[in-house]
Formats: sequence, C-alpha cells, structure tokens
Amino acid sequence: MRWKTICFDLDNTLFSHEAAFEKAIKNCYEKTVTLWKKDKQIKHAPSTDEWFFLFKQNSDRFWRQFEQKTIDRRTYRRLRYQQTMLAFNLPYSDTEADQFHEQYNQTVYEFTEPYEGLASLLEFLQENGIKLGIITNGPADTQYEKIKRLGISQYITSEHIFISEQLTVAKPNPAIFNYALTQLQHQPQEGKLYVGDSWEQDIIGARHAGWEAIYMNTRNVDPHSTEPVVATCHTLTEVKNIIERELNLKG
Ligand SMILES: [Mg+2]
Repeated sequence: MRWKTICFDLDNTLFSHEAAFEKAIKNCYEKTVTLWKKDKQIKHAPSTDEWFFLFKQNSDRFWRQFEQKTIDRRTYRRLRYQQTMLAFNLPYSDTEADQFHEQYNQTVYEFTEPYEGLASLLEFLQENGIKLGIITNGPADTQYEKIKRLGISQYITSEHIFISEQLTVAKPNPAIFNYALTQLQHQPQEGKLYVGDSWEQDIIGARHAGWEAIYMNTRNVDPHSTEPVVATCHTLTEVKNIIERELNLKG
C-alpha cells in the first residue's frame, strides 16, 4: 500500500460545515424571534430564510478580514450580526450579538451529519491496517463535539485527534502534521496521505510537511496554486475509490 498513514481534515471534509452552520444559525434566529414575540418587542420579524440569506452574505463579507487577522473572532461575529440587524431595521447590541453566537456555539454540533460513505471509507482503511487520524484547526470543545456526532470513535481514537487550539499550532504550519506522525508512530520511509478541503491550510500545509494530498473540493473552490495532488474529489466515495485503486495496484 502506498500510504501507511492517512489523516483527514474535519469541517467540510468529513461533514458539511456549511449545512450545519445554516441549520444552527436558522435555529438560533428562530429562538430569538420567539423571544421578541413573547416580549412584544418586534411586531414584524423577517422570515428565517430572508434573515439567513443576508446573515450569510455578511459572514462572507467580513470573513477575509477575520482570516487575515485584522479583526478577532468576536468582532467578526458582532459585525455580521450587526450589519444584518441594521439592514432589517432591527435593534442591535453587542451583548445580544454575543449571546446569539454563544447559543450557536452550544448547538452547532447537534447539526453535524457525516458525509455519505464516511463509515464505509474508515472501515475499509482500518481493515487494511492504515493508521488513521484527524488534524483540525479550531476550538477543542466544539471540534470534539462534532467528531463525537460523526460516530467514528471505533476507527479513530481520541489520541489521534489533533486540534490546533490544544496543540497551540495550526495548519498550514508543518509542525502540526509532523506532530501527528510522531503520535501515530509513523515510520519515516512509509507514505502518508492527507485529505482536506482547504487549499491553503490542508493542501499547501500537508505538501510542505512532505505528505501526499487529496483535495476534497466540497465547496467548489479552484486551487490557488499548482501544488501537485493525488486527486481532486467531491465525495468520500470518490476518495475511497482512489485509495482502493492504489491498494490494488501496489498491494
Ligand atoms: Mg475544512
């Protein structure tokens, strides 16, 4: 087998973060509207779809600033909430924005549903004696909850889940990939593969650390560079087929 170790990214690689985000935000908004109605504060609230549409636009609008660290996470979240509320002539306060996102943090993992074929892929890899891990950027509590919801603990043990917040190093820094290899007791001469959806963090990061990579292009984003990849896939079933083909070729 070409690869003895295979690690995965989490969000938008093993499940649709986009779908979970939409469901969780809509759920938070509906709870907020219920409170407004109870307090008789607001008579005409926009529909959930209308409100979410603008909220999503504002999320995308300020994302670059957050990614480039010109604003912190709290400011980013306040801005997208504020701009949405103001556009609908709804009252805004920082406290309410923080409460809204606190509720989001506490519920988003409930909407985490694995991509089709996840269990079958991991079972296949485990049967073939591949060492498996997850390398993810994000807050530890939320990432653990999401992984728990995916129901994959029989394939990937908690010691092989590498979260940036806990390790104080994040992708694309090669150090987090190297740390995973040490923990997985990976032998230097053996092949290693990383599967992820972010060109910047996953593909560039893994390649710089000396891994081969599969680009899981679930959000249809064109590659930012000509970095070579084993394949570009859109589903986990395609990922499984690629790995299976390698297994048959090099058995
Ligand atoms: Mg991702």
